[in-house]
Amino acid sequence: MSLVSDSALRRALARARDGKALDVTEVAVLLHARGEHLDALLEHASRVRDAGLRAVGREGIITYSKKVFIPLTRLCRDRCGYCTFATAPHKLPAPFLSPDEVLEIARQGAAMGCKEALFTLGDRPEDRWHQARSWLDAHGYDDTLSYVRAMAIRVLEETGLLPHLNPGVLTWRDLQRLKPVAPSMGMMLETTSRRLFEEKGEAHYGSPDKDPAVRLRVLEDAGRTNVPFTTGILIGIGETVEDRAESIFAIRRVAREYGGIQEVIVQNFRAKPDTAMRGLPDASLEELAATIAVARLVLGPRVRIQAPPNLVDSEYALMIRAGIDDWGGVSPLTPDHVNPERPWPQISLLEERTAESGFELRERLTIYPEYVVAGEPWLDPRLFAHVAALADPATGLARPDAVLRGLPWQEPDGGFASSGRVDLHVEVDTSGRTSDRRDDFDHVYGDWTALRDRLPSTPPTPPSTTPPSTTPPSTTPPSTSLSDGALSDGAAGGGTAESGATRSVASVSPRAESDPAARVAPSTAAGVPAVPAPGGRVAEGTAAEAAHPDAGHAGTAAGGASSAAAERASSAADVDAAPPGAAAEDAASAGAPVDGVTAGDASAGASITGAGAGDGATAGRAPLAGVGAMGGGVSGEVRRALRRAAVDPGGLSDAEAVALLGAEGEALDELAAIADDLRRQAVGDEVTYVVNRNINFTNVCYTGCRFCAFAQRRTDADAYTLSLDQVADRAQEAWDAGATEVCMQGGIHPDLPGTAYFDLARAVKERTPGMHVHAFSPMEVINGASRTDMSIQAWLEAAKEAGVDSLPGTAAEILDDDVRWVLTKGKLPAKEWVEVITTAHKVGIPTTSTMMYGHVDNHLHWVRHIKLIRSLQERTGGFSEFVLLPFVHTSAPIYLAGIARPGPTAQENRAVHALARILLHGAIKNIQCSWVKLRDDLCRQVLQGGVNDLGGTLMEETISRMAGSENGSYKTISELREMVEVTGRPVRQRTTEYGVPTDERLAASEASDGVCKSVRRVLPMA
Ligand code: SF4
Repeated sequence: MSLVSDSALRRALARARDGKALDVTEVAVLLHARGEHLDALLEHASRVRDAGLRAVGREGIITYSKKVFIPLTRLCRDRCGYCTFATAPHKLPAPFLSPDEVLEIARQGAAMGCKEALFTLGDRPEDRWHQARSWLDAHGYDDTLSYVRAMAIRVLEETGLLPHLNPGVLTWRDLQRLKPVAPSMGMMLETTSRRLFEEKGEAHYGSPDKDPAVRLRVLEDAGRTNVPFTTGILIGIGETVEDRAESIFAIRRVAREYGGIQEVIVQNFRAKPDTAMRGLPDASLEELAATIAVARLVLGPRVRIQAPPNLVDSEYALMIRAGIDDWGGVSPLTPDHVNPERPWPQISLLEERTAESGFELRERLTIYPEYVVAGEPWLDPRLFAHVAALADPATGLARPDAVLRGLPWQEPDGGFASSGRVDLHVEVDTSGRTSDRRDDFDHVYGDWTALRDRLPSTPPTPPSTTPPSTTPPSTTPPSTSLSDGALSDGAAGGGTAESGATRSVASVSPRAESDPAARVAPSTAAGVPAVPAPGGRVAEGTAAEAAHPDAGHAGTAAGGASSAAAERASSAADVDAAPPGAAAEDAASAGAPVDGVTAGDASAGASITGAGAGDGATAGRAPLAGVGAMGGGVSGEVRRALRRAAVDPGGLSDAEAVALLGAEGEALDELAAIADDLRRQAVGDEVTYVVNRNINFTNVCYTGCRFCAFAQRRTDADAYTLSLDQVADRAQEAWDAGATEVCMQGGIHPDLPGTAYFDLARAVKERTPGMHVHAFSPMEVINGASRTDMSIQAWLEAAKEAGVDSLPGTAAEILDDDVRWVLTKGKLPAKEWVEVITTAHKVGIPTTSTMMYGHVDNHLHWVRHIKLIRSLQERTGGFSEFVLLPFVHTSAPIYLAGIARPGPTAQENRAVHALARILLHGAIKNIQCSWVKLRDDLCRQVLQGGVNDLGGTLMEETISRMAGSENGSYKTISELREMVEVTGRPVRQRTTEYGVPTDERLAASEASDGVCKSVRRVLPMA
């Protein structure tokens, strides 16, 4: 270990003593403390630990968990240089312990008073060992984790022991599957050192699951899933002290952001014979003590810190002085299979040694007391009874008199009992919400401060000239701004104010915030846009085209684009004076690749987070700078992009598409006209709508989507759950009103039975067999599959059989995880959304596709999202439409917390609807706008810019209304017609699949005007 200067140590110690924040360098210095410096360090750490214990009412208590160790399999796909646990199949009697063996260990443990069953096993052995694969196949398990899940349930049911799962690297979806069967899980981070992973001969070389980035992702996914999670660092495996310091800081970041790290183990490497690292010296106990102490100082008083007592020789007192407050799992029955040469101390000895340091040893459960007391969302309701049987309700510690007995692990009852404010769907329009935020606002979304820390600070934002458009301004002014050009850690390059796509709350002009009238787009100040005749064009464009002699020629060059669109390509070129050389550019843009279109082309393959990294690319530029900067004319960049859009709509580069999103004034009109031409080509002039009813069967949800103002805690005044009968009643009402579709989505209620979604679909189909069931977002599909431990495909097939006809492609938000993990704490990653959707298409379930935009995203995110949708459609053909969902900010938590901006501007709404039509041309025919989120005048405008569908009458729209949308919770057919009338376009009722409803349905919907009485009676809208 390298030496540091005495003065550096003294300085760092003084800061530690004074409770000042330490940085990585200071921590690395402190890790060298020995002798009197070490004594001082331990004293400071002890003080922090004691304050933390006092704060949770456990002053003077050190905990441990009485456990049995279940080595489910000792096969592993990794090859860590220090490991004696993993072995080869020929050295084992069987690849896995049998169920009988597992239960025998658990029963013996229960008989000895153990309360934890620690499942430790190798990482996905079936990927490396065919013997493991064969065993799983022979025993009917898809993978090792399915076997873990099954055994955890058996242990709960037959012994009452609480499983703690340690199965190595887990995906977000694995965590969803396993959370209902284990109150806690764990995985050591070990180290963030990439060198140990990447360099031959180092400890983690050749071990795919030891990639530090992968392991950090596991910690984050556990936090997102609200799993009380154990992690830690392993010291002395070749890492540097700086690596060690960085590892501790990495754990702190995750602990703060999600609050789910229930304990941090600081473990010392002990060399074992027969391992590649047998020659390496053990980490010294002083080194261990110093590391524990700095971990305590960095992680703070609230984090529980553990040292395994069988690895500290007799230095119990030293570890207690270093700041531990837990001894981890200790088994009276089974050896430490990872360190078999080091037996656990007797519990009585541990008690004595702890007492010698002035502490009382108390038993805890595998789930730490704070999480026991908090309950939801940390503990799955299926485990409430098991934990309650063993926990002291006052302290959350283990009850000394607890009797171990198996309890059924079952689907909780009550998920479909009607409860709460079931009339919210109408009352949201009359008495409104009870409160603007849920009761657990401060923690259900994770830590807001830590979330802000994910976002690099940004330069001041140039004020926007175009005000927001979707809803009136909030009365709660946000407090921070955000660059959406730099949404995530590690954004590439250094952005400049000009290039950083800075978007913030501050970008809304003060007038727009205080004056709703100012939020009307300049071009629609009168509330109604200039409306061309059906099939006609906006006046300026038409005039320009008429004057252009080469209009027809450009259309020919386009090789298939409509002549009208091609005309626009030419007319756009006439908008401002052509610079020298423009003719050549025009020719190139009419069909040939345009290499030099903008420097932004170079950014097309760059990461979105790097957008606007000062490379001159248009991708990340401020959305409103494209045209205005040209003194009111159309910039060459936008002009070129317009030409490309007209002749090769699907071929726009990212940079061109982003440039179009910045189009204003005549350029925006031109963009809309191009989109409208494409719309006419694709689907004609009809504007369609469906008569349908939204049924949001529950709003209880702990997923923690930060944009969602719909979800409630189960005890909140606005929380509700509908019974199956109520759902069927609403479907019946809708049917009677002429509906052809119900759209069912709800919160991820932890009590929902595994069969909930099938039951819901059946309930509707049984009552109204002719109704199209459009139901369950990809998040709900994953939730259903996780609860039933079915594959996504099997679950979707079962859902189809139960009556699901199509899936809403909601939960897409922006399909980029950098954005998603700001928008939501725990909703599914982009990859999972894609998997659910493509699997649905594969099994013959069509879906819609959506994009929710205008929050913490930037224009390049929108472009890439739409292009991803296009590429999926080219693969599967399963999307019926693309729905644009502007972010409604008013009650959205992420807006109230001052992180998101107040939705897209009117200009952006027009531009993105048009761009969607253009980018999806030839792939998705139907582009839908959301009247719920856009005002009527904006709906009319986007109808003139590529949109052909208005969605549904909805009957009860609660989700956006809870978020503050002012556009009502239903629209009658008359209102929809009235909205469209001024455009001169024909309006037509459609089925979900864009077919024609039967005469009987049409007559019924005409009679009701598309909305059932029960919702209209309260607030007559027509
Ligand atoms: S968007 Fe859906 S999953 Fe997310 S919090 Fe709201 S109800 Fe829950």
